[in-house]
Amino acid sequence: MNQEIIKNALRNVFDPHTGQDIVAMNMLQSVTVEGFFVNITLSLSAQNNEFKADLNAACEQAVQDIFPEGNVNIHFILQNPHEILGAKTPLPQIKNIIAIASGKGGVGKSTVSTNLAFALQDMGAKVGLLDADLYGPSIPTMLGLQGQRPKVQDVYGKPRLIPLTAAGGMPVMSIGFIIEPEQAVVLRGPRLAGIIKQFLEDTIWEPLDYLIIDLPPGTGDIQLTLVQTVPLTGVVLVTTPQEVAVIDAVKAMNMFMLAQVDVPILGVVENMSWFSPEELPDHKYYIFGEGGGKKLTKMANSMLLGQIPLVQGIREASDMGKPIVLHNEPITKRAFMNIAQNLVQQVQIRHEALAPTQTVKMTS
Ligand code: ADP
Repeated sequence: MNQEIIKNALRNVFDPHTGQDIVAMNMLQSVTVEGFFVNITLSLSAQNNEFKADLNAACEQAVQDIFPEGNVNIHFILQNPHEILGAKTPLPQIKNIIAIASGKGGVGKSTVSTNLAFALQDMGAKVGLLDADLYGPSIPTMLGLQGQRPKVQDVYGKPRLIPLTAAGGMPVMSIGFIIEPEQAVVLRGPRLAGIIKQFLEDTIWEPLDYLIIDLPPGTGDIQLTLVQTVPLTGVVLVTTPQEVAVIDAVKAMNMFMLAQVDVPILGVVENMSWFSPEELPDHKYYIFGEGGGKKLTKMANSMLLGQIPLVQGIREASDMGKPIVLHNEPITKRAFMNIAQNLVQQVQIRHEALAPTQTVKMTS
């Protein structure tokens, strides 16, 4: 018996939160084998502390399976000594959680969320997508996943949801996978909060660079639950150039800027900025007016991440279940790649300039 064989056996033990094996998750700190004695040290996040007994049993079993005469001793240390036991850091395996918000529906928030997620993936990042828009959970359709249901897996005695997968292995969850849209809109706050919490806390999210969350338009229970459940890296606001869209977007923005919420606005995406007919690609018709994105950017003291023109192909690609970024159509792809690059930069600046966002503690 030796260290390597034991280490390999421990690859059969899974981290309850990410579904990845404990060796891949760097939870295995050390293994020593002295005769029949096997000593294992595992580092635990505060979040995994509740699974200590299960992990202990699973490691013991994994070793016993290959070394029945072995005497296993497992020692746990806390991964981050600054974490207080019991005070969980939600989703520590996700580096950045970014919410996509708008003031009103129909401005292209879901279109931006999906294409931005694929643009970030195209840049080499590991990205997940969460559709929390209960008024129009359009992401299942946009990804060709309508009618599908997430599987449930038993993890150390607790049921966990497994996200569905979109192109490139992107994990996706949507309120539309769980309930029918007509049911969703009549749900009351506490039930909605429960579903959102399930998506965040009871779902196996693999380690990600970015989790993009498509919010419902406006301000409401979902937004509130979100900021109370996970520390958001920041928010991207989507608007059309139209004055009425901007007025509503400002209301959504104000919620995130409230002193007790305090989530940074990473930038603004202006969608449907102009229309260029195919036969006149150099002509720009400003159907919804001009300047809305810039105006919102100023009010948010933020940056215009980019502008997206009105293009029939964008709508068609979404309706077909394959977002436009995956079609490699040069003009629209460039627009979304540009937005993704600007966003990555803004995220970096945000991490350098500001402390991590805290989850919001509210009594009502
Ligand atoms: P929201 O999430 O804000 O409600 P959607 O992303 O669902 O908006 O977009 C609403 C409709 O507009 C969809 O049919 C979508 O395909 C279409 N759409 C969004 N952005 C564009 C665009 N830039 N060009 C053409 N169609 C678009």
